[in-house]
Amino acid sequence: MAETGAHLTGTTLIKPSIFEIIAQESFAATVEPAFKKILSFIVSFNIERYGHILRWEDEAFLIFNTILQRHYSNKYSASFSEAFYGLKRIAVIDSKVERDLSKEQKKLSLMLIVLFPYIKNKLSRLSNEYKLEQADGYTPKSRWQKLYRICIIKGYSIFFMIYEFLVLYNYILYVSGKSTYTSPLLRLLSISLTYAKPEAAITISDLLRKIKDNSFGISDSIDILQRMMTTGLEFGAFFLQFLSWWSEEHYFTNLLALPTPPPPTIPETAKRYKGICPICCEAFRVHTVLSVSGYAFCYQCILPVIRRDKKCPVTNYPAKEDDLIRLYLD
Ligand SMILES: [Zn+2]
Repeated sequence: MAETGAHLTGTTLIKPSIFEIIAQESFAATVEPAFKKILSFIVSFNIERYGHILRWEDEAFLIFNTILQRHYSNKYSASFSEAFYGLKRIAVIDSKVERDLSKEQKKLSLMLIVLFPYIKNKLSRLSNEYKLEQADGYTPKSRWQKLYRICIIKGYSIFFMIYEFLVLYNYILYVSGKSTYTSPLLRLLSISLTYAKPEAAITISDLLRKIKDNSFGISDSIDILQRMMTTGLEFGAFFLQFLSWWSEEHYFTNLLALPTPPPPTIPETAKRYKGICPICCEAFRVHTVLSVSGYAFCYQCILPVIRRDKKCPVTNYPAKEDDLIRLYLD
C-alpha cells in the first residue's frame, strides 16, 4: 500500500524516464499503420467491390481510435500507449502538487489524442496533393484559391517544423528537470505523466472461489471479457511493432517472406485493350502505367480519372497519383 500511496499523495511528481516517454510515443505511432494494414488485408479479399472503403481509411481509423482512446481515458486516465507502458495522466499545479484530471481536462486531452494526428495527416496529404498539381503546371483560376493553396503548402511545413522544434526543446527541458511536461500539447492542458498504480487483477483462485460460492456475476464476466480484449489488443500491437522491427533489421532473411508466385494469367479485358488506351480507345499518347493494376493509359486520360475516382477505371483497384509511372518506350 505504501508504494502505491507514494504515487497518489506525494507532493513531488514521480516522473517517468525519457526512454519510457519516447518508447510510448513511438508505440502510439504504430497503431495507425497497423490498423490500416489490417483494414487493407480484410478489403483485399474482395478489392473490386470493397476497394472504395480504403478511400475512407483515415476516417475509419478516426472512429476506431476515438472508441479505443475513450475507453482507456475513462478506465486508466491514459492513452492506449501510455497505459501499455504503465503510465497515466495527471493534472499539474505549480509543477508540484498533483491531482486527477478534471472532466474538462479529460475531454480536451481525449480530443487532442484523437484529432491532432488526424488533422496532421489530412494537411500533409492535402499539401502533397497541391505540390504535385503545382509541379504539373496546374494553376487555379481565382486569386483566392491560389492564396489558399499557398497557405496550405507553406503553412503546413512551417507549422510542423515549429512543432517538431518545440517537441525537441520540451524533451531537453524535461531531461534537465526544468519541466514536468512530456510534450508541448500536454503543456497546453497542464497535464503530465506519472506511473499508474498497479491494477488489482482478479486471480484464478479468486475466480474459482467465486464460482464455488455461486457469487460469479455478470459484472465479473464483463470485467474478464474486457480485460481479455484489452490484453489481446496490447499484445497484438506489441507483436506488430516487433514484426516491423524484425523486417527492418533482417531485411534479407524475412521470416514472413513467401515464395514468389508465378505471373498471373492475362485476363480477357486486358487483351481487349492491347495497344490502345482503355479510356479513349485510341493509340497511347504519353505511355503511362498504373502500378496497382498494370494497365497502360495516355497520361492525359488517366490523370483526371485517378484524381476524381481514386481507382483504376478497368479493375476498380484503389489507386493514387503516386501509382502512375511514365513509360519511355521510344
Ligand atoms: Zn487515352
